[in-house]
Amino acid sequence: MATRCSICDIITSPTNDDVVLLKTHGWRVILMENQGVLGAMYITTERHYQTLGDLSDRQWLGLRDLVRELEGAVSRAFHPVYFNFACDMNDAARDGEPAHVHFKLRPRYAHAVQFEGEVFEDQGFGSKKIVPHQVEKPTLRAIRKVIVSKLGLQIERDVS
Ligand SMILES: [Zn+2]
Repeated sequence: MATRCSICDIITSPTNDDVVLLKTHGWRVILMENQGVLGAMYITTERHYQTLGDLSDRQWLGLRDLVRELEGAVSRAFHPVYFNFACDMNDAARDGEPAHVHFKLRPRYAHAVQFEGEVFEDQGFGSKKIVPHQVEKPTLRAIRKVIVSKLGLQIERDVS
């Protein structure tokens, strides 16, 4: 019997309380609870795709436009120096689950950012290292509000 996909389980769960930034072109953007780098987010396919090769041209183009918009919005909001963008599907393999295509987009900062009374410091700047900084849902929702307010008009229309 096939093992269940934990990402599909989360997406379809009625009690899912993820802080979703937006949904567009078959992609769902979710803020990470670990904001070790402010604005860290997952970009995941809405439907179950197991490999990058399963994505259509339309999805790739949608992802391109989405990443462009998100980079712009986060840059205007918090002024990171650069972004890391990765497709790591290690956890599913480790847990013996089917992989579900998703990416991580992480802004990286040379400076500390004060937001909602918290200081966000990118202590691994210049490396892959992320020092964990867990935040509460109200803070995540405040981060969402700022980023969404900085999105371009094209994507903003699709915000749900
Ligand atoms: Zn899935």
